[in-house]
Amino acid sequence: HAKGAGRNCYAIFGAHMDELIKMRRELERDLRAALEAKDQLEIHYQPVYSALGRQITGVEALLRWRHPLKGLIPPDMFIGLAEEIGIIEKVGSLVLKEACTAALPWEGLGLSVNASALEMRNPNYARNVLAILDELKFKPERLEIEITETALVDEDGQCEKNIRALRAAGVRFALDDFGTGFSSFGRLQRLEVDRIKIDRSFVNGFGTPGGNEEIVQAIIGLAHAKGLKTTAEGIETIEQQEALCRLGCDDLQGFLLSRPVPSQVIAKILQQRGSTIET
Ligand code: C2E
Ligand code: MG
Ligand code: MG
Ligand code: MG
Repeated sequence: HAKGAGRNCYAIFGAHMDELIKMRRELERDLRAALEAKDQLEIHYQPVYSALGRQITGVEALLRWRHPLKGLIPPDMFIGLAEEIGIIEKVGSLVLKEACTAALPWEGLGLSVNASALEMRNPNYARNVLAILDELKFKPERLEIEITETALVDEDGQCEKNIRALRAAGVRFALDDFGTGFSSFGRLQRLEVDRIKIDRSFVNGFGTPGGNEEIVQAIIGLAHAKGLKTTAEGIETIEQQEALCRLGCDDLQGFLLSRPVPSQVIAKILQQRGSTIET
């Protein structure tokens, strides 16, 4: 039965599949080349603001691929591929090195980088990160690593070992896209992170009937009860921003406040901050 259906599928999609496989091979070849050449991979930085003073407190490094023919490719379209073809570790160290170098002069700002679940399962991950921080003289206390729940589904506990080693050195951790996975609350119980990033799907519905305000209120309450900070992702409207402030969310991030921008723009934002807020 199933076999017949499979054959049918191939009859319909076969030609199309060949096309897709060819495109994927090309993308794979180009990504390997981009990693060697380096100048096609660029990082944009999205500011994070405190809810209370509406001050910039940090930036999140977000990777983009400037493909010579295809233009700017977003990370969701190539991070998975980098994982599959075994180069995510190289991508991760490139991002960390470049982001720390850019953020080094941005004194007082935190730097968040996203780590893939595969990186977190590498027994050498913590050592590699600390070596990079040491080499660049980047204070571990300024770095926050964002992981998702998928990183924590890891039988031999390697991810947790990495988290423990890095936290002992002063690096902080955030649980990204919180609320989109399963058993979130259960995992929080034993999880050693410093912050929760409330997924933007919760923030989206704010101010509309059937919005998720009760859920977000509960998440923030739970986080604070456990001594964790909260950041809301994906704030696009004033209403969403006000609701999150009212609910006691600590930090805010979203297109309303700023889109991810090149490092030069962050430097400008900091210059302006320096000249307008004098104490
Ligand atoms: P993320 O870590 O959850 O990052 C937030 C994503 O939401 C970013 O998309 C950001 O541009 C977008 N965003 C921020 N504010 C808003 C808003 O107000 N509205 C909307 N609609 N979107 C907003 P981006 O840059 O395309 O990144 C997508 C995902 O790719 C990231 O999700 C992260 O999981 C992954 N990623 C990005 N850079 C890296 C990296 O260097 N390494 C790894 N492993 N993953 C990365
Ligand atoms: Mg993130
Ligand atoms: Mg997120
Ligand atoms: Mg995400």
